[in-house]
Amino acid sequence: MLYIVPTPIGNLEDITLRALQTLRSSDAVLCEDTRRTQILLSHFGITKPLYRYNENDDRSVDRCLEALAKGKNCALVSDCGTPCISDPGWKLVKAAVKAGIQVSSLPGPSAVVCALAGAGITGGAFTFLGFLPRKAGKAAKIIRSAYALNHPVVIYESPYRVVKMLQLIGKTLGSDTPVIIARELSKVYEEWLRGTVDNLEREMSKKTKVQGEFVLVIDRPADVPMEKEDASDSCF
Ligand code: SAM
Repeated sequence: MLYIVPTPIGNLEDITLRALQTLRSSDAVLCEDTRRTQILLSHFGITKPLYRYNENDDRSVDRCLEALAKGKNCALVSDCGTPCISDPGWKLVKAAVKAGIQVSSLPGPSAVVCALAGAGITGGAFTFLGFLPRKAGKAAKIIRSAYALNHPVVIYESPYRVVKMLQLIGKTLGSDTPVIIARELSKVYEEWLRGTVDNLEREMSKKTKVQGEFVLVIDRPADVPMEKEDASDSCF
């Protein structure tokens, strides 16, 4: 059985009880970076064989698949948050599904959901773009078509490129586009910045050094009404 196990995006206390129980009961843990995962497991007093999983190396995918085919229970983790969400894992999950291996996906931390929940915008549909291509033209095209759906758009960005990304959003969608910046979620210096993309770009440009991890949420224009959603379905 392949278990997809989310891990914290900053605060170690955010790991779920089920994630810990699954890691403890697995035969092996498949991870991006053995050193990083070792630190996490040691923090919780868990000792397990660790296997490096590299999406760009077919042999490493095959190795993991072989262990699963032998009936081993393997926990797939990434460096932070939910595996397969702008992180490695999907190739293995796809191959496992194809090979008839049972897959279980545990709910848990992910920066996209955390940022959206705290953004203070209408719930319901959203478009998650993850990391955009480096080429400005390509990125602008993707942003434009996603925003045309009239849903909030969520982007992951590195501290080195966040100011450039804000400039691109301003150029592509207009300088008064509402944006929420969620920085260092769940960490000591968690920060939320809200405003027009132009103002936020100016504010960020003043910083001598931009540090941390960022999620950008582009909100819908204030004057466009939201389509009514059916909230009658219950989670329970
Ligand atoms: N798998 C992860 C998830 O489920 O969110 C995403 C991993 S992706 C390689 C890393 C990116 O996620 C960062 O560059 C940043 O955009 C976002 N991210 C991760 N942790 C974050 C945090 N604590 N605060 C804000 N953004 C975060």
